[in-house]
Amino acid sequence: MKPRSLRVRFAVWTALVILSVLAVFGATVYFRMEHDLSAALDSSLRVSASQIVASLNIENGQLQLPDSLAEQPNGGSIPSGFRARILAPDGQVLRQSGEPIPQPPAALGSSTSASYSTAGEPPLRIYTALVTDSGHPVAIVQVAQPTAPVQDTLDTLLAILLVAAPLLVIAAGLGGYLLAAKALQPVDAMTQMARRISAEDLTARLDLPQTEDEVGRLAATLDSMLERLEASFRRERQFTSNASHELRTPLAAMQTIIGVTRQKRRTPPEYEQALDDLTEETNRLRGLVEALLRLARSDTEVLDRTERIDITTLLEDIVESMRPMAEGKNLQLSSMLEKDMSLFGQQDELIRLFVNLLDNAIKYTPSGTIEVRATKEDGLLRIDVEDTGIGIPAEDLQHVFERFYRVGPSRSTEGSGLGLALAQQIVEAYGGTISTESQERNGTTMTVLLPERRH
Ligand code: ADP
Repeated sequence: MKPRSLRVRFAVWTALVILSVLAVFGATVYFRMEHDLSAALDSSLRVSASQIVASLNIENGQLQLPDSLAEQPNGGSIPSGFRARILAPDGQVLRQSGEPIPQPPAALGSSTSASYSTAGEPPLRIYTALVTDSGHPVAIVQVAQPTAPVQDTLDTLLAILLVAAPLLVIAAGLGGYLLAAKALQPVDAMTQMARRISAEDLTARLDLPQTEDEVGRLAATLDSMLERLEASFRRERQFTSNASHELRTPLAAMQTIIGVTRQKRRTPPEYEQALDDLTEETNRLRGLVEALLRLARSDTEVLDRTERIDITTLLEDIVESMRPMAEGKNLQLSSMLEKDMSLFGQQDELIRLFVNLLDNAIKYTPSGTIEVRATKEDGLLRIDVEDTGIGIPAEDLQHVFERFYRVGPSRSTEGSGLGLALAQQIVEAYGGTISTESQERNGTTMTVLLPERRH
């Protein structure tokens, strides 16, 4: 079963890593030490044996034995437990010092080192040197020393490793746990805060001290995400309340018309007038609902924008279809359109975009001229709709593309403030931009830039 807490997992992992490192390290040190100590023992035995061999005199194949083996020829101190003997080639002991060496002189054909132990005796390391004269064996020199000191050293090392390893592993696990706890503390704070956040209250922020590490970046990212969410929720709520307010106005007007008309019997022309009024309100309501639907839909809907649209022709047609409306207000409507401008897109959408702009120009121009211009500008299609109308006050300019924003609602009774918001949404869907330049009482220019090709 996996531990549920990251801290515990981290601690276990740290401990396991340290444990395996220690195992490898301990084994290496132990075996290296064992090897080195045995090699040192062997070489000291070899030196002792060669000193004894050097003390032997061989004359005409006859071995002259030294008086005693106890004294080292160079006068060095004798290690405790050291033993030596000289044997005749047939195994007979000729001289001996220290305890007897128990090993029977086997395999005497060459010089060898070997370990030997018998029950009740400390284990010995024995070095056998064969002494020859003109190729004939004349004597065998054996030196031996107990391996106990080497073993003691190794045992001490093992004990240290066995005591230190668990301590180190526990310390590493504890360290890992504490480190993970410290590193994860902000994560806990985030979890708690996330529990507090609800759709109703998005104002909570993590507000953790800013750090450049992973957790710090995560906290900052979450905070900025919350900020965006809050802003979008606020916009959404505003949108809903504006929408219901806008829908209520024509409905209230319709109720009033019906209520007033039904108060008494009316003449047929009065009924006709009431029906006309109702039709007007219904149209307004329908326009509003359609605009709302479009705004909501294009937030989520992916439209097929692969049809090649001839923008020049499209604009010509729109201008012509709106000419009667402009002329009805005695406005001069003209156009200057570059040939062969086209774009991959969706016809309805583009019509809605330009009709909205032209409709505004006509609506907000009491007298004068309206001009529609279209040109190509390094990979962009630029469409300007310029009028000489009432203009937009400087302080409203930056807001006119917001949903439901209307400049001084008294300037016009119709309109919902959704036209330019929709226009902007369409332009952005094409990867383009829409901007406005305006001077109050002097006129307005709406500029749309659309990339010819969308990437
Ligand atoms: P509306 O339905 O009120 O026209 P829009 O979103 O189309 O809403 O426009 C937002 C506001 O921008 C309008 O209330 C209007 O005052 C102002 N506006 C838009 N176009 C023009 C223009 N060509 N000239 C002057 N004012 C304009």
